[in-house]
Amino acid sequence: PQVQGMLLRHTAETLARLPARTADSYKNQFGHVMIVGGDHGFGGAAMMAAEAAARTGSGLISLATRPEHVVASLTRRPEVMAHPVVSGQELEPLLEVPSVIAVGPGLGRSPWSEQLLARAGRAQAALVLDADALNILAGGRVLAGIKRDDWVLTPHIGEAARLLQISNAEVTADPLAAARAIQEKFSGVVILKGAGTVIAHRDGTDVINTGNPGMASGGMGDLLTGVIASLIGQGMTLPAAARLGVWLHGEAGNCAAADGQRGLLATDLLPHIRALVD
Ligand code: AMP
Ligand code: MG
Repeated sequence: PQVQGMLLRHTAETLARLPARTADSYKNQFGHVMIVGGDHGFGGAAMMAAEAAARTGSGLISLATRPEHVVASLTRRPEVMAHPVVSGQELEPLLEVPSVIAVGPGLGRSPWSEQLLARAGRAQAALVLDADALNILAGGRVLAGIKRDDWVLTPHIGEAARLLQISNAEVTADPLAAARAIQEKFSGVVILKGAGTVIAHRDGTDVINTGNPGMASGGMGDLLTGVIASLIGQGMTLPAAARLGVWLHGEAGNCAAADGQRGLLATDLLPHIRALVD
C-alpha cells in the first residue's frame, strides 16, 4: 500500500507536466506519433495503438501498415493518417516526420516485419518497441547488439523471457530482476507488464500495481503502447511517460471494468483514457 501511495502522488505530479491546452494551442505542440505494425491478419492491433495515442492527446497520428488495413483504419478513424507500406524502403521517408515511433502492435514476424523494424529501429525519433518488435529483437538478427537510451521496451512475461533467453517461470519468479536485466542488455526504459508492472530505467525501478484481470484480453497491450508513445510525443521524459502511461492505462481499465471484467474489450478503455488526460 505504501508503494502505491507514493506512485499515486507521483502520478498527480507527472499529469501536471502534460502541455496545457491554451487558447492559442496548435497541433504541433502535442507531438506526432507514428505506429508501425499490422502484418497480414493483425491490423487491429496497430489501429488500436493509433487510436490510444489519439485519445491520449497527440497532435498528429500516422500509421504505417500493410495496404489491406488502410481502408479499415480510415473508416474507423479518419484522423489517423494511414500509410500503406510494402517494404522497409517505402517506410524510410515516412520515418523522418514523427517525433516518436512505436513499432510492434500486430507487426508479425515475417520478412516485411523484420524490414520495418530494422529501418524504424535506426530512426532519429524516440521509440517504443512492443510485441513482435521485441520478439524479433530477441532473435538477435535485426538491430543486433543495439542499445538506445531513447527507447521504451514493453514486454509481457513471454516477451521478457525471449529477450533474456530464459523461461517464463524464471521471469515470473523475480520480475524485478528480469526487468533490470533487460534494461542492462538493451538500455532505455523497460516496462515488464503483468498483474503488477515493473518499470526499470537507468536511475531505478518502479512497481505499479494497477488494472484488473478483465484486462487479460487481446489488444490491451497495444493500447499501452499508444498511450506511452503519445506521452513521449507530448514532451514527457521516457521514465515519466512510462510511469504515467502504466497508471493511466490501468486506471482506464478499472473505470471500464465498472461494467464488468468478463467481456471487457480493449477499445472500451478509450473513452476513459480520454477522460483521465483531460
Ligand atoms: P499484452 O499482454 O501485451 O496484451 O498486455 C496486457 C496489458 O494488460 C498489460 O498492460 C498488463 O499489465 C495488463 N494486464 C493483463 N492482465 C492483467 C491483470 N490480471 N491485472 C492487471 N493488469 C493486467
Ligand atoms: Mg502485447
